[in-house]
Amino acid sequence: MQNPFGELRIIDRIRARTSPSNGVRLGIGDDCAILKPPPRHELLVTTDFSLEDRHFRRQWHSPASIGHRTLARGLSDLAAMGAKPLAAFLSLAMPKSIARNPRWLDGFLDGLLALAAAHNVPLAGGDTSQSPAEAILADIILIGSAPAGRALRRSGAHPGDLLYCTGALGGAAAELAALSASPRKFRTATGDADHPHLFPQPRLAVGQALLRRRLATACIDLSDGLSTDLAHLCTASNVAAELDLAALPLHPLAATIDDRAQITALLHGGEDYELLFTAAPTTKIPRSIAGVPFTRIGRILTPRKNKSQMSILTGKDRFELQPHGWEHFA
Ligand code: ADP
Ligand code: MG
Repeated sequence: MQNPFGELRIIDRIRARTSPSNGVRLGIGDDCAILKPPPRHELLVTTDFSLEDRHFRRQWHSPASIGHRTLARGLSDLAAMGAKPLAAFLSLAMPKSIARNPRWLDGFLDGLLALAAAHNVPLAGGDTSQSPAEAILADIILIGSAPAGRALRRSGAHPGDLLYCTGALGGAAAELAALSASPRKFRTATGDADHPHLFPQPRLAVGQALLRRRLATACIDLSDGLSTDLAHLCTASNVAAELDLAALPLHPLAATIDDRAQITALLHGGEDYELLFTAAPTTKIPRSIAGVPFTRIGRILTPRKNKSQMSILTGKDRFELQPHGWEHFA
């Protein structure tokens, strides 16, 4: 019997747009994909949901932006650990209204596959189903590889290390605020890197270089906001940290909002997908890698009982900093 949802047609449509890759012995079409990791490497695996009305809205996000952001979430996790992507898997549940009209799916694939091509990531499989409700649900699974024993972790920071971030902060939060106020302004080209919320750029080349050149002692990607992700790093490493407020690199999109909103966007704005890493004070950190600038934003301290894990310095004043990251729309 013909599947009324046309699952096979949809899979064919996806398969037609994928191309062969060295790391994938067998891609879409069989019961499993067969991957070939490089010798003496370990596999790294991450999965991330992108759920309608929680992570994106159809009124705010173009199909291409949703596809791009779905893949970017997984790629950023690989970047944080210095891994190279080996293959991506996409589980997609769509309501009948979307599945009947391939326009949304084609746009979603445009965004997802453009980012995949930019980073040489093959789409090697997935699952397709009709959504039980009107919501679109996408789950991305990324498999990456790193030289055995060398993946960057959250847990390697030591007191005395210096704290760095890549790129600029607060841009995604500022763009999201503008988007929610005036969605129509944001009809942008697929993959446009000037739009940190709609088309975030995962820092894969940077993560891989930090690993290869043994520059970082610990690393995490900034998905939930600086204050929350720094707290994760501190907890995993059993250290404390202080930030220099004046050193935080403000994204130009956040430059026009008022001072309070700027500080909130810098410290707590989520989804910038930059990397936050620590390095020994004797390690010489370059000004940039692969065109992505680095900024020294603070230092790692010995944790003290009854003292807050994180603090922020502004001039001569020091404030306690609490994790206050970004919760998705809900
Ligand atoms: P099975 O029922 O054996 O799991 P499916 O019919 O679900 O097989 O999938 C057939 C092939 O299509 C598999 O190789 C699967 O990985 C691939 N596939 C299914 N859905 C997707 C998707 N959304 N994106 C990429 N590949 C997919
Ligand atoms: Mg299946």
